[in-house]
Amino acid sequence: AKYVYLFGKGKADGDGTMKPLLGGKGANLAEMTRIGLPVPPGFTVTTDVCTYYYANKRTYPAALQAQMEAGVANMERIMGTKFGDANGMPLLVSVRSGARDSMPGMMDTILNLGLNDTTVLSLAKATNNERFAWDCYRRFVQMYGDVVLGVQKRENEDHEPFEAVIHEYKHETYHTDIEDSALTATDQQNLVALFKNLIKERTGKTFPNDPWAQLRGAAGAVFGSWMNDRAIVYRRKYNIPTEWGTAVNVQAMVYGNTGEKSGSGVAFTRNPANGANEFYGEFLINAQGEDVVAGVRTPEPVINLKKKMPASYAELLKVRAILEKHFKDVQDIEFTIQEGKLFMLQTRNGKRTAAAALKFSMDMVKEKLIDWQTAIMRNPADQLDQLLAPIFDPAEIKKAAVIATGLPAGPGAATGQIYFNADRAVLAHERGEKVLLVRLETSPEDLRGMIAAEGIITARGGVSSHAALVARQMGKVCVCGASAIQIDYEKKTATIEDKVYNEGDYLSIDGTAGNVYAGQVKTAPSEIITGTIQGNKAAQKTEKFKHYTQLIAWCKKAARLQVRTNADTPEQAANAIAFGAVGIGLTRTEHMFFEGDRIDSMREMILANDTAAREAALAKLLPYQRADFLGIFKALKGFPATIRFLDPPLHEFLPHTKEQQMDLARKLGIPVEKIMARVNELHEFNPMLGFRGCRLGIKYPEITRMQARAVFEAAAAVRKLGIKVNPEIMIPLVGFTNEIDIQSSIVHEVAKAVQSEQKVRFTYKVGTMIEIPRAAMVAEKIAQSAEFFSFGTNDLTQTVLGMSRDDAGGFLGAYQEAEIIKKNPFASIDQNGVGEFMKLAVAKGRSTRPDIKLGICGEHGGDPDSVRFCHNLGLNYVSCSPYRVPVAILAAAQAAV
Ligand code: ADP
Ligand code: MG
Ligand code: MG
Repeated sequence: AKYVYLFGKGKADGDGTMKPLLGGKGANLAEMTRIGLPVPPGFTVTTDVCTYYYANKRTYPAALQAQMEAGVANMERIMGTKFGDANGMPLLVSVRSGARDSMPGMMDTILNLGLNDTTVLSLAKATNNERFAWDCYRRFVQMYGDVVLGVQKRENEDHEPFEAVIHEYKHETYHTDIEDSALTATDQQNLVALFKNLIKERTGKTFPNDPWAQLRGAAGAVFGSWMNDRAIVYRRKYNIPTEWGTAVNVQAMVYGNTGEKSGSGVAFTRNPANGANEFYGEFLINAQGEDVVAGVRTPEPVINLKKKMPASYAELLKVRAILEKHFKDVQDIEFTIQEGKLFMLQTRNGKRTAAAALKFSMDMVKEKLIDWQTAIMRNPADQLDQLLAPIFDPAEIKKAAVIATGLPAGPGAATGQIYFNADRAVLAHERGEKVLLVRLETSPEDLRGMIAAEGIITARGGVSSHAALVARQMGKVCVCGASAIQIDYEKKTATIEDKVYNEGDYLSIDGTAGNVYAGQVKTAPSEIITGTIQGNKAAQKTEKFKHYTQLIAWCKKAARLQVRTNADTPEQAANAIAFGAVGIGLTRTEHMFFEGDRIDSMREMILANDTAAREAALAKLLPYQRADFLGIFKALKGFPATIRFLDPPLHEFLPHTKEQQMDLARKLGIPVEKIMARVNELHEFNPMLGFRGCRLGIKYPEITRMQARAVFEAAAAVRKLGIKVNPEIMIPLVGFTNEIDIQSSIVHEVAKAVQSEQKVRFTYKVGTMIEIPRAAMVAEKIAQSAEFFSFGTNDLTQTVLGMSRDDAGGFLGAYQEAEIIKKNPFASIDQNGVGEFMKLAVAKGRSTRPDIKLGICGEHGGDPDSVRFCHNLGLNYVSCSPYRVPVAILAAAQAAV
C-alpha cells in the first residue's frame, strides 16, 4: 500500500482533494506545489498510518520505513543536500501534523529536525553562520524535548521548563532579560547543553543523535498527539470523529532566522475579522515560523514588508492573487522568506467571523469568483447568529472610558466579570455569571475557559495568536495584545495605569474596534435586528444590512423547505415575519394562561367540581384567548398559524406553596384544604407521561370546545376586517386514532357553529402532532382525520429515546464522552432513531392523504443539521423561535443548493 505521498519541484503525488487521506495541510501543500508555487519539497504520511498505529498497539505498517526513505531521498535530490550530512550542508526537516480539518494549536510541530552535535557544525560551516546554526539546534532540542520526550510544565511551575532555563541563563550571563535574538552562538551552544541535561533529568531519556531515530520519534509523537486531552476536547466541541486521524508532513526546512534579510509570517488574503478586501497579516524579521504565533515577540503588520522587502512583498501579492483565483476562497497562509526568497509553507481556507464570511461571499460574487449559490454555502448557518449578536448601545458607549486598546481580533460587544484562569471562568459561568477571560496569552489549555466566556482579552499576541484564531472560530468577542494591561496571575489582578481590577470586577470589550472599557456597558441589538425588526433607516443603509438582506433573498430563492416560527404573541410573530418566516408553526396556548390574573380563572377551571362549574370558568377565559388569537392573526397578515391546544399537565397551573394556596383560597372563596387536596390529587409521578396533551380534552371536552371557539371567533372577526386568516388547529400527544377523531369532530362542530353565528366563512385545518412512537406507527389511520402532521421532536425524542429532557443533563455528558451519542439529541435530531420514526410517519401519512402538510416544531427546527434532515425527508416547513429564523432559512437554502 502507498503510505507516503511526495511533493516538490512542481510535482506531487497528491492534490487538494485528498484531505481525508493527506490531511488538510498535506493536501494543500501538494496542491500549491502543483500550481507552481514555491513550496519546499517533502512528503506526507497518510492518515491510514494513524489508523493502523492505533489499531496495532502503536506500531507501523512494515512497508512504511522504505517509503519514508524514498521520501527523504527525493527531498535530498531536490535540495541537493543530505539528511544527517556531517560534511556539507545537512538536510533538515520539519515534522508537522495535519488532520483533515485544521485543529489550531492542537498538534505540535517540530522544526530543524536532523541536527545533532555533528550536523550543527556542518550547518554552521555551510552557511557560514554559527549563531544561526546554534539557534536552530537550540530550538530543535527544545521542541523535541517538549513534544517528543515529554518535558512539560509541572503543577507547581509558573513557566515552561525550557523557558525557565533560558531566563535563568540570561540573568546569570547578562544580568538582564535580553532578547532571544541577542543571544550569541556560544549562548545557544550553552543552552543546548543545559537543555539536554534538563531532558535527562526530567525524563531519564537521552536526546537522540541519529536523525532517523529523531524522525521516527517525531512522527510517533504526532500520531500520539491525536489522542492527547487537548485534541480530544477540541474534537468533541467541533464533532470531529476520532476515526479521521492525522497525517504527518515531513518537509525540507527553509530558514527565516538567518538574519535581517529573512523572516516568517502568516497572512490572510482578506481581512478575516471584518471581511475587507485587504492583505492582512503579520511577520517577524529573523524568525522561524513558530515565533510569529507564539506571542513572545510582537510581530509587525504585513504591509511593512512593502518597505522592508519590496521584492518579496510583490511576490507575496502575486501569490495572494493566484491562491484566491485557484481556491476561489479566502486563504490563510504561512510563508517564510530566506535571504529574500519567498517560500510557501501552508494554505487553507481562512477561518472567519460571520461578518467577514458575509462580506467575502457578497464581494466574491461581484468579482465573479463564485456564483450566488456558492455564496449561500459560504455563510455557515450556525455562525449566522453572530451577525445578530448585540453591539454596544451607542449612547452608553460614548460615555464609557477606554482604559486600554488592543487588536480587534473577534468582533462584537461583550461585557462581563473578569477571570484570569480557565477553571475559575468555567465555575463562574456555571454560577450564571457573564465572564470575560483575561490572560497574558491563551493556549489550548484555556479552551474550556474560552468556551465559557462571553469575551476574551489578552495582553500579548497578535491577530493570528491562538486567542484570536479560536475566538474568531467560536464567534467570541476578543481583544488581543492589550499591552497596557498588567496581569498578575498570583494576586489575581489586572492593573491598568495604577488602577487595579480584581477577579469578579466588570469590564467591557469591543472586539470590532479593539477597545477595553471599565465597568459594565449596556449592549444594543445589531443593525440587522434594528433594520429588520424596527425598520430603522440608518441601519438599513449599512453595508452589513444590505449584504444580509441579499443573502436572505438568495436563500429564499434557493430553499424548498419553508420556515415558520414558534410564537405565542403578536410581537414574536411580527418579528419572525420580519426575519422572513412565512407563518407560525407552533403557538403554545398555555403560555397565554399565565398572563395577568387569567391564571385565576384557569385555576378556578381546574378546581371545578363538575362540568357546569368548569364551563363557567372557561367562559371567563374565552375572551382572553379570543383577543390573543385576534392579535396574532392580525400580525400574521394571512400567513397560516398552527395553534396547539392545551398540552401541559394541569398541576403546572396550580399554586404549590402554602402562601399561594391561601391566597388563591381567599380569591375564590373556597377553603384552602380543597385546593391542597386538588393539588395532591393532580400530583403525578411522571408528568411527562401523565395527564396531558389531548388526554385533557378527552376527559374535559369543554376545554377543547372553548379553545376552538376562541380561535374561530377571532378568525371570524379578522375575516370581517378583510384580512386573510388561516388557522391550523393542532391536537397534541395523539397516539390512538380515536383521540384525533374525537377531538377533531369537536373542532369541526364548533367551526360550523361559529360560521353560522357570525355569518362568515373561513378556512381552517385540523391536524396533530406526531410526538409519540405509536402515532408514527398508525400514522396512515391518523391521517384520515388529521389534515397535517407536525413533528413535535422534543417529546418525540423523549418518548423514542425514553429519556427525559429535563433529567438527561446528568448523563448526556458522559454519553458524549463515550461517543455513544455524537450530539445532544435534544438539540440536533437523532436521525437514526427518532428520524426513522419521522420517515415512517411521513410515508404512512402520505399513503392515505397524499397532500398531507408536514412540518416540525420543537427546538430542532433551528438546528442546521436537523433542518437539512427535514429537507431530505421532504417536509413542507420547519418552525423555530423567531431569532433562529434567519439561521433556519440559511440552512434550508444550503440543503437545497
Ligand atoms: P500549525 O498547524 O500549528 O500552524 P505548522 O506545521 O503549520 O503548525 O508549523 C508551525 C510553524 O512552523 C509555521 O509557522 C510554519 O510556517 C513553520 N514551518 C513548518 N514547516 C516549516 C519548514 N519546512 N520550514 C520553515 N518553517 C516551517
Ligand atoms: Mg460536541
Ligand atoms: Mg500552520
